[in-house]
Amino acid sequence: MEQKNTIKEEIAKLIEVQKLDSEKFDLESQIEACPIKIEELDQLLELKKTHMLKSEEELKKLQVFKGEKETEMMAREEKIAKHKTDLYLIKSNKEYSALQQEIKSIEADVSLLEEEIIDCFDKIEEAQKIKDTAKAVFETEEKKIKEEKKSIQENKDQLMVKVDELEAKRKGLISKVDPSVLARYERLSKKKGKSALAKLSGGFCGGCNMQLRPQVVNDVQIQKDLVFCENCARILYVEE
Ligand SMILES: [Zn+2]
Repeated sequence: MEQKNTIKEEIAKLIEVQKLDSEKFDLESQIEACPIKIEELDQLLELKKTHMLKSEEELKKLQVFKGEKETEMMAREEKIAKHKTDLYLIKSNKEYSALQQEIKSIEADVSLLEEEIIDCFDKIEEAQKIKDTAKAVFETEEKKIKEEKKSIQENKDQLMVKVDELEAKRKGLISKVDPSVLARYERLSKKKGKSALAKLSGGFCGGCNMQLRPQVVNDVQIQKDLVFCENCARILYVEE
């Protein structure tokens, strides 16, 4: 034979349900935060990667530039060598001194190029250091973030198991609550978020802090029927 719960018993069960719902709400917030944390970590890693790729590019650019200068210098050195051979073949003094002048001018170019190439060596050495550091930072970070993501995922899995457990517990609990009382609770909790129940506290609603009429306070204390806050509509209860 089914025995009907008293209002007091119904409320005691609803308090339990609300406790589970509140726990579930917290767990779900934690679960929702997981992909956001993972995304933040991915973005952080992407930044390190961009820095690494940029430093690689910078190094490559310097190496290409140095190669070009070396080619240029070699071409000029060849020209000098050729002109020096040509000097032997020249008959007129005027032509001879003109060619000597030309050689001097090319030699000045070569000397400038040499300076530029030496400068490149320093810059390349510096860029190489920056690139090596950026690569090491990226690799360390990549490893660390991989671990962190794994632990976030594991934590999320555990939280989801806990949510399932709470849901099973809740199912068992609500099967013993009067369906019409439960329906009111569900409607309210959907609207109010975490709390559909509010404790009476010194004549005030514990949900919205409004002062209640003496008659309402009295009705809550009698526990003959469900009583709702006239302001926020939460189900009011007294703690024994
Ligand atoms: Zn209220």
